[in-house]
Amino acid sequence: MPDADLPAALIFDVDGTLAETEEAHRHAFNEAFAEAGLDWHWDQARYRRLLDVTGGKERIRFHQELAGLSVLDDPAIARLHARKTALYVAHVDGGRLGLRPGIARLINQARAAGIPLAIATTTSLANVESLLRATLGAGAPGWFAAIGAGDMVARKKPAPDIYRHVLDRLGVDPARSVAFEDSVNGLEAARAAGLPTLVTVSRYTDDQRFTGALAVLDHLGEPDQPCRALAGRAPAGGVVNLPALRDWLRG
Ligand SMILES: [Mg+2]
Repeated sequence: MPDADLPAALIFDVDGTLAETEEAHRHAFNEAFAEAGLDWHWDQARYRRLLDVTGGKERIRFHQELAGLSVLDDPAIARLHARKTALYVAHVDGGRLGLRPGIARLINQARAAGIPLAIATTTSLANVESLLRATLGAGAPGWFAAIGAGDMVARKKPAPDIYRHVLDRLGVDPARSVAFEDSVNGLEAARAAGLPTLVTVSRYTDDQRFTGALAVLDHLGEPDQPCRALAGRAPAGGVVNLPALRDWLRG
């Protein structure tokens, strides 16, 4: 049985948190646009702006609004997004994306301690499963007691719906669990669901302001690659492990 003081569950965001996926997403969008004969190209500056909107289909719609265009209706956006997802999955399946520092270590530690794991993301289920398989092994999706993804709920982050969906399935006390996020939208969603949240900033979110996080770190850390705290306190040894999470939950 797990130690009663340890977290009741660990719930992970995917994009930017498990892996630096956003560049792979950006390239897949651009490939899909080119294939569809659209002369759209999202550079890093534009993509940073588009990331204010969560969800790929929503992002394409937002791009049209910003550009004053109405080229694509909703069914056409859905088809374009499906093609983009296929291109992204092919990239991930090719093993070209690794997990961020400390993710595999912490996941394995939680599994060994019998602590339930879950995913709460706005990215599609296909994207999540392909990333987990390519980085942690074929059986890895089965390690997660709940995977909340994509269109399973109507309102995407910063709404708390995807976290509530996952918490319903886990049946744990949110106040004793920990969410892992890299963005303000994600932090707001997790906090609104009652979850203490640890932020690890990523390539596209390092300029955001995080209020109410347990701590803001550059990553979860490894013994040979300690993490740094950007806000709050860094864990002992620069490594986020189960005792460090327990200490944050105790306050
Ligand atoms: Mg994220």
